[in-house]
Amino acid sequence: MADFVNAAEIFGENVFNDTVMQERLPKKIYKTLKETIEKGLELDLATADVIAHEMKEWAIEKGATHYTHWFQPLTGVTAEKHDSFITAPMPNGKVLMSFSGKELIKGEPDASSFPSGGLRATFEARGYTAWDCTSPAFVRQDAAGATLCIPTAFCSYTGEALDQKTPLLRSMQAINEQSLRLLKLFGNTSSTKVTPSVGPEQEYFLVDAQKFLQRKDLIYTGRTLFGAMPPKGQEMDDHYFGTIRQRIAGFMKDVNVELWKLGVSSKTQHNEVAPAQHELAPIYAQANIAVDHNQIIMQTLKRVACQHGMKCLLHEKPFAGVNGSGKHDNWSLTTNDGINLLDPGKTPHENIQFLLVLSCVIAAVDKHAGLLRESAADPGNDHRLGANEAPPAIISMFLGEQLEDVVEQLLSTGSATSSKKGGVLLTGVSTLPDLKKDATDRNRTSPFAFTGNKFEFRMVGSRDSIAGPNTVLNTIVAEAFCDACDQLEQAEQFDEAVHDLIKKNLSEHQRVIFNGNGYSDEWVAEAERRGLPNIKSMVDAIPELTKDEAISMFEKFKVFTKAELESRKEVKFENYAKTINIEARAMIDIAAKQIIPSVIKYAKSLADSINAIKAAGVSEVGVETELLIEATKLLKTTQEALKNLESIEAQAFAMEEGEAQARFYHDNVTKAMEQLRTPVDELEMIVDKEMWPMPSYGDLIFEV
Ligand code: ADP
Ligand code: MG
Repeated sequence: MADFVNAAEIFGENVFNDTVMQERLPKKIYKTLKETIEKGLELDLATADVIAHEMKEWAIEKGATHYTHWFQPLTGVTAEKHDSFITAPMPNGKVLMSFSGKELIKGEPDASSFPSGGLRATFEARGYTAWDCTSPAFVRQDAAGATLCIPTAFCSYTGEALDQKTPLLRSMQAINEQSLRLLKLFGNTSSTKVTPSVGPEQEYFLVDAQKFLQRKDLIYTGRTLFGAMPPKGQEMDDHYFGTIRQRIAGFMKDVNVELWKLGVSSKTQHNEVAPAQHELAPIYAQANIAVDHNQIIMQTLKRVACQHGMKCLLHEKPFAGVNGSGKHDNWSLTTNDGINLLDPGKTPHENIQFLLVLSCVIAAVDKHAGLLRESAADPGNDHRLGANEAPPAIISMFLGEQLEDVVEQLLSTGSATSSKKGGVLLTGVSTLPDLKKDATDRNRTSPFAFTGNKFEFRMVGSRDSIAGPNTVLNTIVAEAFCDACDQLEQAEQFDEAVHDLIKKNLSEHQRVIFNGNGYSDEWVAEAERRGLPNIKSMVDAIPELTKDEAISMFEKFKVFTKAELESRKEVKFENYAKTINIEARAMIDIAAKQIIPSVIKYAKSLADSINAIKAAGVSEVGVETELLIEATKLLKTTQEALKNLESIEAQAFAMEEGEAQARFYHDNVTKAMEQLRTPVDELEMIVDKEMWPMPSYGDLIFEV
């Protein structure tokens, strides 16, 4: 069968990766490029010319006709503008295929339509893009043919970041510098680079394409705006018909093949709690590559789903009342010589370093909980976070039983003298217990959990870029490391100073540690008592970006300027308002043109049968009359709610863009949307299924 897949053979075949570069580039050029990447320098034009030429030749062999600078604007998804390799026709009527170094390292997308939050006046609308040479170029094959994609950062002419990647790269530089400082304190002279390792687990739903196309809400907004709960929920295991499973399995196989060709190490796949929901996780990679790969994963899921007659829903909450989708952002710090800073070591020396790193992360997360929360805020995630499922909106940390025990001892006695495995820590120094990843020791309700040798930030929305959350994580931990180094570099008694600092970090920030059930009401009350922020919505989270402590931190580590933060705030408020606006208008459209007319038809059919029964001389028309009365009553409520939504939406739309408008959408428009949804969902339960204008939740979720 032609179906046989040799993963090792196809892996990375469409990537201009190290092996290809080594093969095709002149030795000197290859060396210069490697150095540039290693040292984070800028690539010179002469070198870029040679690389561009080889890259083009290689891409053409793969069938590419176009190239694109592939970048992530502030709205989350990737953007691209395609240029063909062809030059102007020559006198003989033929064209050449060309691609210069200048085109490789600096493109100029006319990207004036991308949000910039006022950073770019329209008269100087052009930003420039620069190749992120630490993330390899690749050839993507799809219906448009083959395209050479160049992972890119996007800036304005004055150097302000207009995308998600530029600040991410800056934050990686910050965490690198501060981590090296910290390692040096512990006598490490061999590591020369520290990079954040990131492995995001991606959740998604699959629905049948034919059914999807009958739902205008899914088409316009990615989520259902109406829909009564199916008789069967997610309480049952997902063992439906073999044929269904086959369809999904075939999809997953093709997704893997596509991803492997693009060098994305798709590793695990499984079904999730909700029916029709699935998950895909790659092997972790350095942060900027992981961010690019996650974008590739999302695009590939969508594309392959279409080829299989399905649609992939990446929205955080496509179905009310059914589990939503998120992205678990697994994060750790790795040195170029293979040390994971979040791996508790075997020697006391390593253990103290680990405890210091851990205490710094705890301090960072507690101090900047609001920023972390903001980094996971998007309109879709408002339906998830804190809404009785998924992680709560309160940031807390789960350490697991063993570490929690160590922390408690450090705090109560000043040193951990025993551990669950009997070692002695810090005083009379022995080793920390061997903290192996313990599969049973999991707390799935925690938004920020330590899982063996990494942290898992579970708040991120399924559709969002992971660039934002990782930028925040890198920077807040860089700051905590920096504070620690500032103190420890001055210390006369190093061991004592480290010990005191760990204790100080833990005692000042222990309030953020919570090992219990994060979904419970008790936790909400307890968190409030502890003074932890509970930021319930995106509009409440956005202002965190420009609080004094955020601005001074981001400026100190050169990740964002104040102007960039202000602009991001503006873009986010705008994005929120636009999203709700589209949803409200879609609801109005669906209710007015599909639902109300269908209910009228249904009511007419009831009236007709009542008349027919009466004409036949039967006086008892109880059920029909009852249904008619109920349908008519609900129809009236629907019509009133529709009128109300129309007027509130118009009011919101007329407001000036900005925070006040976003808040108005949040406080008033979403409420009016709920008021329209309620009677419609009730109507769905009584109207003849044949007459209901769109597939039900049951049809969508159970018949994939
Ligand atoms: P689970 O569902 O138990 O969380 P998965 O295997 O689905 O486990 O996902 C784990 C994710 O964590 C993978 O993407 C993996 O690459 C990533 N990961 C594992 N170790 C590290 C690490 N040290 N740093 C960052 N990410 C990691
Ligand atoms: Mg996980």
